[in-house]
Amino acid sequence: MPPVRRAHCFLHLLTMGGAFSNEKAGPAAGMTDLRETTILDGSTGYVLLSKGLPEDDMFQKIWSAYALLEERYHSLVVQTHKAYMEVGATSVTTNSYATQPTYYEKAFGDEFEPLMLQHVELSARLAAQAREEHVTACPGAQIRILGSLPPLVESHRPDMFATALADKGEEFFVHHYGQLALALLKGGVDALLFETLNSWEEARLGLEALRRLKINHVPIIVSFEGSIRDESLKPQTQLAPWLCDQVVQAKAEGALPIEAIGWNCAPPEDIVDNLEAMKSAGALDRLREQGVGVVVYANLHEREVYDHGFDVGAVDATEHSSPLGSSVKTGEAGEASPPPSNPGSPIRKRADLLGSGNAGFAVRFARDFGACAVGGCCGCGPEGIADIHRHFKVGAVPESPSLFPSIVTGG
Ligand SMILES: [Zn+2]
Repeated sequence: MPPVRRAHCFLHLLTMGGAFSNEKAGPAAGMTDLRETTILDGSTGYVLLSKGLPEDDMFQKIWSAYALLEERYHSLVVQTHKAYMEVGATSVTTNSYATQPTYYEKAFGDEFEPLMLQHVELSARLAAQAREEHVTACPGAQIRILGSLPPLVESHRPDMFATALADKGEEFFVHHYGQLALALLKGGVDALLFETLNSWEEARLGLEALRRLKINHVPIIVSFEGSIRDESLKPQTQLAPWLCDQVVQAKAEGALPIEAIGWNCAPPEDIVDNLEAMKSAGALDRLREQGVGVVVYANLHEREVYDHGFDVGAVDATEHSSPLGSSVKTGEAGEASPPPSNPGSPIRKRADLLGSGNAGFAVRFARDFGACAVGGCCGCGPEGIADIHRHFKVGAVPESPSLFPSIVTGG
């Protein structure tokens, strides 16, 4: 008889899953209560691969969106979202990071847009389905769904963004960001999350799209690639306070409900540099005064490959495998980590960020800099989020403590 899936419910002492707020968090506000920090999810694409999404030709073209194209993989998307909810994430992001025009045009030709938007809406519906199933198992659970708005050309490539902007013009970005946002909202997301933005220009065009659509009722989070690299791909973390000021200004001028600025998909050390620069420049205080929170979800991979650009085809799907070959369990309880899906991949998880490594950084982001929401980006799966949850939610009581932190159990 196959094992029966059983949900884990956490009885949090404080309300979770609502709007990100930095009002109470942060060193300037006095005591930081880590239990008030929102726990985000980790990577979706990696979990989909570890759960069986094949790395065939179509995957190479549209990456995690492949799970939206083929109906037989829709349940994997739902399972992935639920895996994060079951380890304590109260905010999950739609699987729409790869539903973007550059990938879709390459895969499906000039007429790609209707299919792309259908997939974007579907990504929101699958996240909503996961929440519904989770809440059925855990009545009272509060889960927020963030609609992912990705870079529209490529991640970690500000140089390619600049070339595309020169070639295609601003309206390409404004049009597609607007259409993607509308499809996410139609699918039922609670908030919109720009992720891994390459530059202020990319953020500005995305926000211009939302301003034109008069999106004034849905919270917006603007998250930049956390190393803030320039077009020669060199980190420019000293620009963090300037980016904060741009976001605050855009919020005021566009009457946009920007709830938080974020730093994601960069080594945690670079994000610490951003936060230090923000602290010394007074930007953390200015954000707090304007009601703008700080969200952080770092990349757990070895950084060299990102320094030279990014290729989704080179991704190693396994969670928490390290260059030393050590690994921890992922997914189903008692199940060993899958072997590296792409053994030749230059992308490897950092051994020092396993277990408490990333969670320790997450604590530092919240305690020392007042981050209101923390999670994981590439290389972080449910096990990594469970580690963070364990560090933050000391008052959270697992329904069955002996089972924590595995996400399913035989029954
Ligand atoms: Zn990432």
